[in-house]
Amino acid sequence: MKKQLIVRSLTVAFLVALFALGALAQEKLDLQMLDRIRQEGLVNSKITDFLIYLCDVYAPRLPASPQYVEAGEWVVGKAKELGLANAAMEPYGTFGKSWELQKYYAAMIEPQYMPIIGYPKAWTPGTNGVLRGQAVLVTANSVADLDKYKGKLKGAIVLLQGEQDLSISFEPVADRFDELELEKLTLAPEPGFRRPGAPPMPDAMARRQLQLTMAKFVKDEGAGVILEPGRGKNGTVFVGSGGSRAKGAEMPLPAIAVATEHYNRIVRILQKNLPVTLEVEVQASFTADDLPGTNVVAEIPGVDKKLKSEIVMLGGHFDTWHAGTGASDDGAGCAVAFEAMRILKALGVQPRRTIRMALWDAEEQGFVGSRGYVTNHFFDRTKKEKKPEYDALSAYFNFDNGSGRIRGIYAQANSAVVPIFEAWLGPVKDLGAATVTLRNTGGTDHLPFDGAGLPGFQFIQDELEYGSLTHHSNMDVYDHVSRPDLMQAATVMAWFVYNAAMRDEKLPRKYFDPNALAPARRGS
Ligand SMILES: [Zn+2]
Repeated sequence: MKKQLIVRSLTVAFLVALFALGALAQEKLDLQMLDRIRQEGLVNSKITDFLIYLCDVYAPRLPASPQYVEAGEWVVGKAKELGLANAAMEPYGTFGKSWELQKYYAAMIEPQYMPIIGYPKAWTPGTNGVLRGQAVLVTANSVADLDKYKGKLKGAIVLLQGEQDLSISFEPVADRFDELELEKLTLAPEPGFRRPGAPPMPDAMARRQLQLTMAKFVKDEGAGVILEPGRGKNGTVFVGSGGSRAKGAEMPLPAIAVATEHYNRIVRILQKNLPVTLEVEVQASFTADDLPGTNVVAEIPGVDKKLKSEIVMLGGHFDTWHAGTGASDDGAGCAVAFEAMRILKALGVQPRRTIRMALWDAEEQGFVGSRGYVTNHFFDRTKKEKKPEYDALSAYFNFDNGSGRIRGIYAQANSAVVPIFEAWLGPVKDLGAATVTLRNTGGTDHLPFDGAGLPGFQFIQDELEYGSLTHHSNMDVYDHVSRPDLMQAATVMAWFVYNAAMRDEKLPRKYFDPNALAPARRGS
């Protein structure tokens, strides 16, 4: 290296170090407090206890269901025990009708007996006792193809899709980010371009339209039940809703998602033109169709005379799907938020700003709970009207990408928060949390905040088994949640919330023009 170059490199290195120090100095990090947070979160953790109640005792929790309310009341009780203030189930508006499964049984009777792994789809009705009927595979490439089934489906148990591909996979079930992937995540994505005149995938749209027509046809023909392949393998069934929560919505047929292996066996026998007799019983009930929805909230009040009216929020969503117990989606996020509150409370933290936990309802129906909350407290998108707390919120931190540990955070296109988050992550780098990306991430409850111009963030989390196994499946249960990952996450969450509550200024906001608002986005 030439002397001049060395001097220049040293100067650059010095400037970079100065800048980093500058950010750190500006952030006034209390590293002694961090040591205590780490001790409380990583050594004295109570997250497992909370998680067992949330995933084994009070689950699943479909929005506004009796189970949801019972679980919410339990959390409110725990929050009060912990000494949190203003713990309550806070109404956000009308949810609609909820749904509850009481009984499920299905088996193949002929040609051989086989119990069927399956789960009724939410918001579909029961069968009125045991239904024994013939399985019928309805195949159609066009509406005209349906004619041959006219008059032949009364009381039948129909399958509307053919054999599903279940080829062997050599992909690992669980995954973590490696350094290279994290590095790539910090780079801006390639600016997108749309090919001019690219057709909007007419095949997929036509296929979807045909499926809707088929579902209506089999119902009109008096079929008894619809069986669907459950999208997973190894007995894992992914299942969501098959009906509507809306008042006065038309009642669909009972519909059951079954293990793909069992579905395929039935299809292959039918394709040999051999009869298949099935037996199905579903008991399910709907609640009143105008139930109020509630989020679960609790606070550690701020103590600074000037800043205590300001708020730092953290949370995850409290509603779950029903086939599993919603352990990773999003019992994990609720446990992380609650444990972070416990850590701060156990350390006797006196935050300058008020720290508020919110566990949201009906995220799975399109962020209904968090959207309602944002509308009530911060900003009404329809009226484009700010609410009293709009200027008081510093930030909202969300945890809802499974139970994987925090590897960093999405800055959600807010450049001003990047150096702040980098400074906060510096001293927790050894826990694997170090990456700040300017990129946006979607699909969960920080979006209603973001959409109102408020700093709402979701962490970068390791994937673990989320996409392959647990997300919306019957295997989303306690055993597939990684406790060490959640201890790490609660510790980092507590540190983030602490810093946001203690720093002199609120977190900076990005440019927001209420008049340029697009319609609210929906998600997972
Ligand atoms: Zn979720």
